[in-house]
Amino acid sequence: MTSLITSRLSDSGYDFIDESAIEELLSGPPADTAEIDDIIAKSMAKQPLSVEETSRLLSNGSPEVVERIYAAARQLKRDVYGNRIVLFAPLYIGNLCRNDCEYCAFRRSNKQVVRRTLEEEDIRRQVIALEQMGHKRLIVVFGEHPHYDAEFIAECVQHIYAVKSGRGEIRRVNVNAAPMDHRGYEIVKAAGIGTYQIFQETYHHETYRRVHPGVTRKSDYLWRLDGVARAIEAECDDVGIGALFGLYDWRFEVLSLVAHALHLQRHYNIGPHTISFPRLRPASGVKLDEQYLVSNADFQRLVAVLRLAVPYTGLILTAREPAEVRRTVLEFGVSQIDAGSRIELGGYTEAGDAQIMEREQFQLGDIRPLDAVMRELLENDYIPSFCTACYRLGRTGEQFMEFAIPGFIQNLCTPNALTTLLEYLLDYASPETRAAGTAAIARELERMPDGPRKRQLEERLRRIEQGQRDLPF
Ligand code: SAM
Ligand code: SF4
Repeated sequence: MTSLITSRLSDSGYDFIDESAIEELLSGPPADTAEIDDIIAKSMAKQPLSVEETSRLLSNGSPEVVERIYAAARQLKRDVYGNRIVLFAPLYIGNLCRNDCEYCAFRRSNKQVVRRTLEEEDIRRQVIALEQMGHKRLIVVFGEHPHYDAEFIAECVQHIYAVKSGRGEIRRVNVNAAPMDHRGYEIVKAAGIGTYQIFQETYHHETYRRVHPGVTRKSDYLWRLDGVARAIEAECDDVGIGALFGLYDWRFEVLSLVAHALHLQRHYNIGPHTISFPRLRPASGVKLDEQYLVSNADFQRLVAVLRLAVPYTGLILTAREPAEVRRTVLEFGVSQIDAGSRIELGGYTEAGDAQIMEREQFQLGDIRPLDAVMRELLENDYIPSFCTACYRLGRTGEQFMEFAIPGFIQNLCTPNALTTLLEYLLDYASPETRAAGTAAIARELERMPDGPRKRQLEERLRRIEQGQRDLPF
């Protein structure tokens, strides 16, 4: 079972993606409404679903069943997450890449792309721009290249934490980069990273081989599949998984993501903190094969089904999606979005540069500024959150899973969302967004039961108004 360039796999095994079993589940007869209701009841009791149960939710696409699934996903999201949406921004550090992924503008054979790696001063300028928008959480993104080894990534993360501008500071840096060996994860963990994200792209072996041609690091399916397990073994226990939707049958990828999440939970007692489900976007020099592109309707279904399958796993929706799609799927269970994003190297300070299109990995669908996204969220009764408390107070991995029980989110996450929202309103918001936010905070306080937690929160909000910052629960 070892593959060409795999150097060291994890101890957990990698037989959890049983392709023929998944294909068989997908060809089963449609579930009737009674069966669907039983499975939904399990989700509503906040129990993770098995791969089989998830496949049953996917087996029936009738409008009646899909509506039931949407209603349940909406309700579950409210029960588990309240109306919070966590905000972050991507920061692309470098697009050198030795791989040749067919879908990505950074692939090594793409001669149209301008290659660049941000230097320390470039990073500082980007981070100041992000801080001045009000961001507190970043995800740093790298091509896969020997230059971007664990030491380099760790140094970038440390530079970012060190940049302070006025009231601005980045409090959490997540990483989206190539899988590492155990030692590499120890190095990036020591730099204080948040989540380490690795997307499998496609869990379907044959498709994986086709879209990752040649013998490259990335063409090693098992090395990649095992990447997050190795991270957990190296105590980098806050991990994110994902699939790039549009490469193969979306229902197969959904079941594989669920299988992957359950595998991690079973072996390490830690599920993934987040699941991402990027949809393939047009990109410079990339010819999209349209066979498996996911329609908006199917995209909504996949988000809702994932919500029901993994009640406690964060779901990340990126600005790859246009604003109207984001608006719709947000309510089916998304817990994190990026906003104000620029994915060109240097894009936060160098917009307007003629070569900028040649430095981005793919085209974004939602390029509205952070303030506009904040205002829309607030007007639609969401509470945008810049909270980073759990990670900074050590509530990650197994410990986070223990806490991720009913009540935890309401007692800690909602108050933290409101305090970080107030910081944003006071320090960065436009007058219109500040007005919408002030009304939203009043609304939330109104909804909270009286008691010590509410009094503590009101006290912290007062201290923030008086100029204090960063007061996490
Ligand atoms: N190079 C690393 C890797 O491949 O894991 C890290 C990050 S890569 C820059 C980030 C993710 O972007 C990939 O994992 C892939 O899922 C996604 N991506 C690549 N090309 C894309 C496209 N054309 N449309 C949407 N997402 C894309
Ligand atoms: Fe390189 Fe990642 Fe793009 Fe593949 S997806 S070409 S590994 S940057």
